[in-house]
Amino acid sequence: MALSRSEQMSRIRGKDTSPERILRSALWRAGLRFRLQARTPHGRPDVVFPKARVAVFIDGCFWHGCPEHYVRPRTRNEFWSSKLLENVERDRRQTLQLEAEGWRVCRFWEHQIFETLPEAVDTVREALQQERWIPPNSWRVVQVDALPGEGDMEQRWLEELRVSLPRHALVARRSTKKWKRTREHPRSSV
Ligand SMILES: [Zn+2]
Repeated sequence: MALSRSEQMSRIRGKDTSPERILRSALWRAGLRFRLQARTPHGRPDVVFPKARVAVFIDGCFWHGCPEHYVRPRTRNEFWSSKLLENVERDRRQTLQLEAEGWRVCRFWEHQIFETLPEAVDTVREALQQERWIPPNSWRVVQVDALPGEGDMEQRWLEELRVSLPRHALVARRSTKKWKRTREHPRSSV
């Protein structure tokens, strides 16, 4: 694949592996044309299709409470809990406000870009093409409590991003799972 000069430069600088960049090039290769750094009435998504009013956000697994990859910090639990809840509430507000104004909002986890990129591209394409597109469910960790005396077990509380369902509780071992990078992204190929 021929690389533009700026792509070559960014490979040299090692910036080619950000999930935003990976998604943008995949969308571009799929023939979907978007605007970069475009504003919407509610925030600045990672990818924007202004005419179709489709906004795409990539949410970091740690900061936005991914059910598979959020890792409970060992210290300052209250600080991190309120940070997490704050982020999820901001995501929710932004998503619901955009959707109320007729936008279709795709939110991907960082790990989905690395693990299942073609599905993410399909989701964006469907959002662009289907008038009555229904976004996939998006459960988010909003609080995690260590269970004292239970080793590394913890209780996680999850909320759905859009639907006001009751919080859902889950007991599990403290996660330290990382996603797999299934695609090769050489840091410097030139
Ligand atoms: Zn994740």
